[in-house]
Amino acid sequence: MKCPFCGDLNNKVIDSRLGKDALSIRRRRECFKCTRRFTTYEKVEEQTPLLIKKDGRRESFDREKIRSGILKATQKRPVSVEVIDNFIDQLERQFQEANSKEIPAWEVGEKVIEFLKQADPVAYVRFASVYRQFTTLDDFNKELKELAPDLAGEIRFKQ
Ligand SMILES: [Zn+2]
Repeated sequence: MKCPFCGDLNNKVIDSRLGKDALSIRRRRECFKCTRRFTTYEKVEEQTPLLIKKDGRRESFDREKIRSGILKATQKRPVSVEVIDNFIDQLERQFQEANSKEIPAWEVGEKVIEFLKQADPVAYVRFASVYRQFTTLDDFNKELKELAPDLAGEIRFKQ
């Protein structure tokens, strides 16, 4: 580990302690060359499984991609970014804890749909219509009518 002050690579560990979450170790080091001290952290590398797409390709879990899809669906709807970010954190954790190397991509889509269904009916239908590829406006309106009868007919959806 390079000394941040002089760039020398040789140093010694003078103190080592477990982080609060027990997932990291904090080390105090002293540079042999300039004798200044600095701190390093060692962390467990968290593995998020790969997603298996419909055509068999593998893709990494991309939180930004999921986030932008949700933001698009919730545009001008009363769902806060904080709620969305919490959901994605939770989702990511869930998949990390599942401990499998690969999961089908549709599982992620279904989780998002479930979340939006709770959060906002319009966002839900917007997302589901793209995700499940509703083929006609009728499919879209039918679904919306069941969930939010007062909104059906008022919402235009453009793909
Ligand atoms: Zn140094």
